[in-house]
Amino acid sequence: MYRVAVVKLTSCSGCINEIVYAFTFSDIVSKYRIEYFTELVDVEEMGGVDIVFIEGSISNKHQEELVKSVRAKAGFVVAIGTCAVMGGVQSLRVGSDVNDVKKAVYAEPQYIEVYSDVKPVTDVIKVDFVIPGCPINGSALTSFLRKYAFGGLPIAVHESVCAECKRRGLECVLVARGVPCLGPVTVSGCGAICPSFGRGCYGCYGIKYFDLNREKLEAFSRRLAELGMDRDDIDALLKGYGFKVYSAIMRGGEA
Ligand code: SF4
Ligand code: SF4
Ligand code: SF4
Repeated sequence: MYRVAVVKLTSCSGCINEIVYAFTFSDIVSKYRIEYFTELVDVEEMGGVDIVFIEGSISNKHQEELVKSVRAKAGFVVAIGTCAVMGGVQSLRVGSDVNDVKKAVYAEPQYIEVYSDVKPVTDVIKVDFVIPGCPINGSALTSFLRKYAFGGLPIAVHESVCAECKRRGLECVLVARGVPCLGPVTVSGCGAICPSFGRGCYGCYGIKYFDLNREKLEAFSRRLAELGMDRDDIDALLKGYGFKVYSAIMRGGEA
C-alpha cells in the first residue's frame, strides 16, 4: 500500500476536494493510505511517504521551506492545480503594490507575510508529475491514481482546449459568434466545459507552455482586442492563471 501525503499551500482547497472524492472509490482506497493531510494532520511533522500531492502556490519563506522539506521526504511529487503548477489566480497580484493588495483583502494586513511575486511549486522544487486545472479534473486524478498503483503513469497530452472542443463537435463561440475565448492558448483537460455552455474559455487550466511564443501570444491578443476586449482585461486574463508561464513566453525564454 502506498503512503500518501496531501499538502496545501496558498489555495482555495478546490483541488484537495477532488482528492477526497477520489478516495471514495474502493479500488483507490485499497491501494493508498493517506498519512498526512494539511487540513487534518500537521504535515510539518511529516515522515517519509511514497507520494505527495501539493496544492497551492508559495506565498512566503515559510511555505518555501516547507515544500523543500516535503520534497526531501517524498518518493514522488505531484503538483495539483493551476496554483501549484503555474501560480494560479494568485498571479493577479503580481505587478501591484503588495501592501495595497494586503490592505484590500485583510482587516489586519500587518500580520500577513507574503511575497509580492507568486511562486508555483514547480519554481522551487523538482516535481515528478503535474495535473493542472482550477480545480483539477477529478477523472484526471483518479486515472493517475489507478495507473500509478500499477507502476505506470498517464500519457501526457499536449494540446489546447480547442482540441477538446473540436472532438466534442461544439460550435466555436469565437468564430461563430465573436465571443472572446482563450481556448487556443489554454492547456486542455477540462473537456471544453465553457464552450459547451456557449461561453468563452477564460483560461483556468493555465496558459499553454509547450508551443507558444511571444509572436503568437501578441497576435492572439490583437484578435481579442478586435473582438472588443479592453487591453487591460486581455492582459489580466493572460496573466491571471499562469503569470510565470506568460512572462517567460513574453521574455522569449523557456516557460
Ligand atoms: S487551482 Fe483553483 S481550485 Fe485548485 S486550489 Fe488553486 S484556486 Fe483552488
Ligand atoms: S470555442 Fe474556444 S475552445 Fe472551442 S474551438 Fe473555438 S476558440 Fe477553441
Ligand atoms: S473552458 Fe477554459 S475556463 Fe472553462 S473550465 Fe475549461 S480551461 Fe477553464
